[in-house]
Amino acid sequence: MADELTDPLLSISEAPTDVLPACPTSPTVAILGSGDFSRSLAVRLIACGVRVVVGSRCVNRIQSGLFPDSVELMSQEGAVTQDVYVVFMALFPEHYPSLLGLQSALAGKVLVDVSNATEMNIHGLSNAERLAELFPDSLVVKGFNTVSAWELQTGAHDGSIQVLICSDSTEGKRKVLQLARQMGFHPVDMGGLSAARDIEVAPLRLFPSWSGPILVTFLLFLFFYGYGFLREILLTFLAQGHNAFYRLALDLVNESLSAVALVTLALVYLPGLFAAWLQLWRGTKYRRFPAWLDHWLLRRKQLGLLSFLCAALHGVYSLCLPLRRVTLYRFINAAYRQVKAGIEEPWDEQGVWHSDLYLSCGVLGLGVLSLLAITSLPSVGNTLNWREFTFVQSGLGYAALTLSIMHMLFFSWDFAFHVEAYPFYMPPSYVLAVALPCTVLVCRCFLLLPCISIRLARIRRGWESKRNCPVL
Ligand code: NAP
Repeated sequence: MADELTDPLLSISEAPTDVLPACPTSPTVAILGSGDFSRSLAVRLIACGVRVVVGSRCVNRIQSGLFPDSVELMSQEGAVTQDVYVVFMALFPEHYPSLLGLQSALAGKVLVDVSNATEMNIHGLSNAERLAELFPDSLVVKGFNTVSAWELQTGAHDGSIQVLICSDSTEGKRKVLQLARQMGFHPVDMGGLSAARDIEVAPLRLFPSWSGPILVTFLLFLFFYGYGFLREILLTFLAQGHNAFYRLALDLVNESLSAVALVTLALVYLPGLFAAWLQLWRGTKYRRFPAWLDHWLLRRKQLGLLSFLCAALHGVYSLCLPLRRVTLYRFINAAYRQVKAGIEEPWDEQGVWHSDLYLSCGVLGLGVLSLLAITSLPSVGNTLNWREFTFVQSGLGYAALTLSIMHMLFFSWDFAFHVEAYPFYMPPSYVLAVALPCTVLVCRCFLLLPCISIRLARIRRGWESKRNCPVL
């Protein structure tokens, strides 16, 4: 999960460069356009001690008080003929040609294209490349489009918001990277202007890193819900005529959520085990993992959070169980049967222990999972050093997995081995649900064996087996 937190939205990491010195003589930044983005950008720049001039087609139309007092409003031409550090194009790309008259005034200047794509599939050139074609003598830089006007004004204080930047001009890119850093953003150098296509569609993507984990969680839920429906409701109804369809709304959902939470948590730790076994088998850490494993490793944080969501919902559903009308009927029926059978004090010591242990493990498991979810937030994770983060995400993660497995086992121990628990030769869903998590725990225990863990530790510190290291 740690890799995920430091990864940029898109690929390619940023090489650190120098930061603008605190400006005794503030640089001047020009913004063309006086709309929402321009206003927010101006507020942010002014707050960072930058002099801002806004160039508008019609200054008189700008309402007073819209921009901070220190922003200088002027004509487009007036703004770009100043000695400016960079010029932000805060207008829609279809209006770029209306600025062609400013071509000579903009020559040699850095133009920042902040526009977004309107559709995922860009045909032909990106907006930034078209701007570069219109103004061949200017240094066009793509950037800031992934930041909303709202974030510009409010969210940049902790430096965790990424600004993706690309350009064919090294000088232009350097200037914009410095400015972004001075504004409190985390700039990421995405390379040449051809990367503008990816950057322009980035704001259109819908939860790109979440779609796979959400799909997996949803399919798991469908599987457990469908399996439970078939085994406990439909087949029982067809074979014995017993109507248990009322269980569809709450019981079955609750049962499926607990199974999904457990399996999803196991899926968080499984790719790490694959990676470790692969490194042991290859005898080196310097060969890339297959793409599917790389992808899976990068989605562990999302899977962990989805597991937490299912576990939390399972907790809430379980708390609701006593509120149901069916529980009331069950109590009355059980009491009636005991009165009829003449039982005065029905106390089952073993049952009491089982239920207490299973509840206790469940609550503790959920508590540890909550801790994992909180530390996966960038603002919390960033305050931990690497050792602390690994301890929480791996050490406590396995503790949460163990507690959740124990929760399931204490719940099911009594009846998991009875032949009645296997009607139609179908095992109960919790037996299916614990299979993968138990396998993960056992494999993890094998990795802790000294003969294996020492070799793995050496490989991770750069040692390679002879067949991989022809130099030695
Ligand atoms: P907006 O509120 O509609 O402002 C656009 C401005 O463009 C107008 O106020 C206008 O200012 C200027 N303009 C210059 N020439 C024009 C022409 N020929 N026709 C019409 N307007 C012209 O739009 P916005 O939300 O600020 O967005 C501006 C750019 O920022 C867009 O490319 C958008 O994709 C990008 N962006 C916006 C956001 C956001 O949150 N709003 C976020 C990321 C990127 P004058 O009348 O003063 O010239």
